[in-house]
Amino acid sequence: MAEQYPEHKKLEKMHPFSQQCVKFIDWLRDDKKISLVKFDEEEKVYYYIHISTDTLLAEFFGIDQNKLDAEKRMMLKLTREMNKNPNLCRICNSEKDANGRCRCRGNNIGYVKKKRPEARA
Ligand SMILES: [Zn+2]
Repeated sequence: MAEQYPEHKKLEKMHPFSQQCVKFIDWLRDDKKISLVKFDEEEKVYYYIHISTDTLLAEFFGIDQNKLDAEKRMMLKLTREMNKNPNLCRICNSEKDANGRCRCRGNNIGYVKKKRPEARA
């Protein structure tokens, strides 16, 4: 998942912290009645900015919204294909063998190879 969907991986990694950020921004807006404004140098006025919290946080955490959307579309596409054919591997989307296993096993994350015990000296 991480290799195929790097933007989602970033999103997952920053999730606990970003949740706190969302709470903070909501608290500013709802409890403190503080809004985000921008100053227009030419007009010498402040104006409200209407950017969603999600968009701001994504930018702050270096997440590319376009790439994220592309990943979402890819996930959706794979899910649809899988629903059409339950014989496809969830990880690599190729055909499973007669035992319902896929060749990719062991080469993808989500499957951890058992470590051989260290040889004793
Ligand atoms: Zn596979």
